Amino acid sequence: MKKSVFIIFSSLYFQISFAQYTDIQICNWPNNAKAAFSIVHDDFGTYNAQGIQNYADTICKRKNLVFTTAAIINECDDKDWEIAKKLISHGHQIVNHTMSHRCGVAHDWCMFGNWGPADFGYEIDSADIILEKRLGLKNHFMIFPFDLHTDTMISHLKEKKYWGARAGVLNEVNTLQNIDFLHLNFAEHFPQNKPDSSLNAYIKKTIQNQAWGIQTIHGVEDFSWGKLSLIEYQIFTDTLSKLQKRGTLYIGTLETITNYINLQKNTSLKQRKLNDKIYELELVSSTGNFTEKDEISLKINTKDISKITQNQTEIPIQTINNERIINIKPINGKIILQLNNN
Ligand SMILES: [Zn+2]
Repeated sequence: MKKSVFIIFSSLYFQISFAQYTDIQICNWPNNAKAAFSIVHDDFGTYNAQGIQNYADTICKRKNLVFTTAAIINECDDKDWEIAKKLISHGHQIVNHTMSHRCGVAHDWCMFGNWGPADFGYEIDSADIILEKRLGLKNHFMIFPFDLHTDTMISHLKEKKYWGARAGVLNEVNTLQNIDFLHLNFAEHFPQNKPDSSLNAYIKKTIQNQAWGIQTIHGVEDFSWGKLSLIEYQIFTDTLSKLQKRGTLYIGTLETITNYINLQKNTSLKQRKLNDKIYELELVSSTGNFTEKDEISLKINTKDISKITQNQTEIPIQTINNERIINIKPINGKIILQLNNN
């Protein structure tokens, strides 16, 4: 008896809470892109990697692209911090690449000295404090020097509630089903790589898997390890820019893409029928409140929705990859969906 009452009650509850009057879905990636992609420039602050500010910034700005750059904190002087602020104002992101860029695991080829648990306070925590003091932003990401890291380092980042670390498998992409934020997979541009084929192969793999690709490059036309020449970087960013314009790729920083994945996983849609032609849509977060930065892309599958407004402002419906898409800031409140009159 009790059980059947429970079933009736729960099915009723299900109908009330999750009634879907119109078919609307949250897109896997921003703007309904097929896949997401990040460029990471390592070694910001060093003399050898000055192409990051001298070339990458200007080129990306012109092509509407953004990147993440990993700063070696001890190498950054006042001038570099001013440059870092300018990069942030262009939509780029600066993350922790430790204080002194030593080797996290001893290797014959790594001759810059080692660091371990006794140095976490200095290499990780102090670096974050300086980043916050200089840039006014809390750091959430670690790029390990030479990609050398240990489980103890990852545990420390976990305790510090880091959002992500580039510590996954080389030449692999991150799928929504199997993403491990503290072991993000990535590709690295090695000096011996042929940029055209290796960079393109990783972009292709990212799109084929509808995943998130993270491409590491050091500097551009400078003295950094595995640098790209100016022409190589132009070709690489042209490819990305074209794919972004076409709606195939969303290019974002580690932070914007991580934030979108979390939003996508933790947001549900609630619908309410106001009358035969008007429905109300509310985005609900299972982790708390939305922030000003949060923006989510929705796929409008119901064909006869003719007008969408939020706070009396009409939301433009765009056609991307043959689907009708809207971008919504959940913090701006409930959405009104209006159906055709015929
Ligand atoms: Zn480095």
